[in-house]
Amino acid sequence: MSFTPSISPITETDEELEALLADPGIELPPLLPSIAFATGDLSFIPSDICLDPAKTLEEQGGLTPDEQSIIRIRALEGLKQLRDNEKEETVSSDEDIKSIMSWACGTDLEGSYLQMLMEELAPGNKDLRSPKWNIQDYSADPFADRSFSVAIIGGGMSGILAAYRLKQAGIKFVLFEKNDGTGGTWLENTYPGCRVDVSNHVYSYSFMQKHNWPHYHSTQDVLLNYFNDCATEFGIRENINFNSKVTNITWDEKYQKWDLIVMRRDEECWSFNAVISAVGQLNQPSYPEIPGIESFEGASWHSARWNHNYDLKGKRVAVLGTGCSAVQFIPRVAEQAEQATIFQRTPNWLMPRPQYQQSLPESLVWCFTHIPNYHNWFRLHLFWRSHEGLLSRLEIDESWEDPGDNSISATNHELGVLLRMYLESEFADRPDLLEKVTPKYTMGAKRFVIDDGLWAKTLHADNVELCTDPIVSIAPSGITTESEGVKDFDAIIYGTGFKAADFLMPMTITGRNGVNLHDQWGGDAQAYLGIVAPNFPNFFFLYGPNTNIVINGSIIYFSECEVHYITQCLKHMLENQLASIDVKTDVHDTYNERIDEGNRRMAWGLSDVNSWYKNASGRTAQNWPFSLLEYWEQTREIKAEDYTKVEFHVSHQPHIFYDQ
Ligand code: NAP
Repeated sequence: MSFTPSISPITETDEELEALLADPGIELPPLLPSIAFATGDLSFIPSDICLDPAKTLEEQGGLTPDEQSIIRIRALEGLKQLRDNEKEETVSSDEDIKSIMSWACGTDLEGSYLQMLMEELAPGNKDLRSPKWNIQDYSADPFADRSFSVAIIGGGMSGILAAYRLKQAGIKFVLFEKNDGTGGTWLENTYPGCRVDVSNHVYSYSFMQKHNWPHYHSTQDVLLNYFNDCATEFGIRENINFNSKVTNITWDEKYQKWDLIVMRRDEECWSFNAVISAVGQLNQPSYPEIPGIESFEGASWHSARWNHNYDLKGKRVAVLGTGCSAVQFIPRVAEQAEQATIFQRTPNWLMPRPQYQQSLPESLVWCFTHIPNYHNWFRLHLFWRSHEGLLSRLEIDESWEDPGDNSISATNHELGVLLRMYLESEFADRPDLLEKVTPKYTMGAKRFVIDDGLWAKTLHADNVELCTDPIVSIAPSGITTESEGVKDFDAIIYGTGFKAADFLMPMTITGRNGVNLHDQWGGDAQAYLGIVAPNFPNFFFLYGPNTNIVINGSIIYFSECEVHYITQCLKHMLENQLASIDVKTDVHDTYNERIDEGNRRMAWGLSDVNSWYKNASGRTAQNWPFSLLEYWEQTREIKAEDYTKVEFHVSHQPHIFYDQ
């Protein structure tokens, strides 16, 4: 399955192809792999050129100009062959794909890495992560008679994915979505300037790659369309109950099922064998606790609840926050408002990306539309270069002696120097602003803000003020700061983030022996693999505790691993005729000790700067501190010994059950 329209035939002359290939917009590293794959001719892979994995983040993968020329010459031959040969000879053997991939990654790929990257590549748009089993395989199982069923809560990126995988496995499910549409974060965040801040080709399902993204980082509407189209294409819409808010979930030990109370038009009761929570981490707006906030008489709203009816023209507007959301909408606000005052508490490290808002160059679009599978290899290239690329730079080297910039290792220091140079160049003429926007904390302790120069341009504008004077209170007419008194405003926009630590709030979830999930967590959410918690049998979290990433990969990768693991759990239950599985407390605790140890070794664990990565107790409850590969490996198979189990018995036959 793929959104890729059929590839257009190559009609260009030799000279036109040569000119195309000379265009600097073409990403060269994926070029020969896609041609070798499409022609079935491995001799297109040059044995005399090696991509250096250490240089993947450099332009054109660190290829020298001579190497680039050689690639262009060979690619020209390949394109002519694709144009002139009637038949496509796609590579089909895994061994051949492996050797092309090994060249593309500059590493002899073996074992888990090979399999994980093969899934990400999805050669020939194959869905390599689909369940390789179906509930009908277990027709002898008593569940088969009982319509084994699963509730999914949330219809965003991860809920759509879970629904599709259950459908592929033939498992009945109902998806409850509180909104009137799918898309989750991309439905709710409609603020001007909203776009994905990781590379779009990677921020897409591995099995639903799209080659016609209009930008390197597409805008909110494009992302929303993608997820809506996926929901339609996957055929899961008929299983979705929109405008349905799950409020209570209670485990019934007698019947080994979960009872849900759902607010739709009226209150409804449902029962399921298992529940998958796909409610996201970043969707409950966090308003600051500032005295007098309720007293403000002007207009005010949160970035995730944008007020599109308010005309900013001619208005004095205050913005609180300078995180990823605020930095995206502030330029648009400043374009319209008479005066925009930005209240910054902590500056973010800017990560320069000149292509951030650019459309894809025509030459690159040509490759996507004319070279079969170029988009798969392009995506693999991006995935590989970003997957662990920068993670080691955020890891503490105990032997490193901090030269005074709060760096934690030589590579952390080196990157910090580059990022400081970027700030110095952007604010060279404004030392006052430079001082304000330069972070003092360890680089990587907070999420980076992607920038293409727009931030500096915005802060330079005559109608924009960057206020770092701490806010004391909010008055009916405006905002009072420590040393500047009251500033009057017509509107206040809160770019103050989300209650990220309040996982699964505000649902009330009661597990075994009446244990309330939020009481068990006590504000410090933990889960085994980020997916399961003791006392909550057959209850699975997506984007749960410690599954967030800071600098590498995309969150969709994590969701795909999580959903794979959950389907393995369900398969295990069906295979072994289990009514429930419940993770053992010691397994859960040992796992989390290791996670905590890992996070303490990272920039975000060391620093005490404000960030949504940490909860009120100071523990990093959000981030995964290890490699992407490690998460993939840990979520491959369920280890039966990690769980206590209850075998299915006929007395578990429930009185109400979901049946379509
Ligand atoms: P955020 O990163 O939590 O930023 C909140 C901002 O509000 C920070 O600047 C924070 O200052 C400030 N703030 C909070 N309370 C304040 C107070 N009482 N007074 C003054 N300032 C206050 O939230 P976000 O920008 O919405 O981003 C959250 C996450 O969402 C991101 O890290 C990212 O993972 C994701 N995101 C992704 C995209 C994308 O891909 N397109 C876009 C936006 C967001 P401090 O720094 O001092 O706490």
